[in-house]
Amino acid sequence: MRSALIYIALFTSMLTIAQQNYKRTLKLMGSRFDITVVANDETSGNAAIDKAVAEITRLEKMISSWDSTSQTAAINKNAGIQPVYVSTELFELIARALKISQLTQGAFDISYASMDKIWKFDGSMTAAPSPDAIAQSVAKVGYQNILLDKKAQTVFLKEKGMKIGFGAIGKGFAADKAKALLMADGIVGGIINASGDLNTWGTQADGSDWKVAITNPFNKSKAFSWLPVVNSAVVTSGNYEKYVSFNGKRYSHIIDPRTGYPTTGIISATIFTKDAEVADALATSVFVMGIEVGLDFVNQLKGVECILIDDKGKMYTSENIDLENEE
Ligand code: ADP
Ligand code: MG
Repeated sequence: MRSALIYIALFTSMLTIAQQNYKRTLKLMGSRFDITVVANDETSGNAAIDKAVAEITRLEKMISSWDSTSQTAAINKNAGIQPVYVSTELFELIARALKISQLTQGAFDISYASMDKIWKFDGSMTAAPSPDAIAQSVAKVGYQNILLDKKAQTVFLKEKGMKIGFGAIGKGFAADKAKALLMADGIVGGIINASGDLNTWGTQADGSDWKVAITNPFNKSKAFSWLPVVNSAVVTSGNYEKYVSFNGKRYSHIIDPRTGYPTTGIISATIFTKDAEVADALATSVFVMGIEVGLDFVNQLKGVECILIDDKGKMYTSENIDLENEE
């Protein structure tokens, strides 16, 4: 009995020594993904990463509005025509998105996507759309017109010309799903990082916490704070490459669903909470709400914290965030 115990102890310590972080960087969902797992050897590390990649690719196929064969495309094609039967997974994602719309009083709205026709954030726009075009387009936005039938498991966009898109929640959703899959597989630690939208579990191979650098977009090269992220998510909205400028004013690629105009004022919003999906959606929501309302909103939510940076480079934090080494 005694020798068996010693044997087990020795065996586990050998495993601990052998464990390493394995990391792969690749493009998925049109974004850079960094997938890191803790594993005993390269073969099992690679196998775990392959599995995460397959899962994210599968989800991308489901939620892509560009892919004309996706379930999401089918919903959009049938706007104003008929309800579309979808998988339980997609149905539930849309149901959760609608809950966030209610919670944020419409600041977050997956039906923002009809605005994609008039606002382009790839540098191709030289002038703002006409107020008429904006008014016509925003008339198609409204989460209240996304009708779910739980029994039939269908989604119906009530108005012709309506469109949904998962740009503000998809990466977080995929990170959560990939994490859950690897955890269920017995992978003891890792990070799924979708261009800064990340979820962690366990610890690094050396036993230390995963950490994220909080950087100021006005000074990208300098991390101004490191924060441990223990079995939780950190998501930043504020894609500095995606914006348009007219008449000296900079507009972000996040649209206020209530006005049809891109938001101004906030340059970066970081949310800390348990799930990356919720964090992703809330980061976008806070962008729309603005600094004052956004902070107030986050301070009312349990288990959610934020760091916001305005267009003058000023940083704001929610009540329970304690940043050290600030500059
Ligand atoms: P980032 O691209 O900076 O990570 P987000 O996660 O906030 O930022 O996603 C922004 C994307 O979400 C936009 O490119 C667009 O596809 C979509 N989107 C824009 N405005 C809204 C909104 N009000 N509600 C939901 N989705 C939005
Ligand atoms: Mg988001």
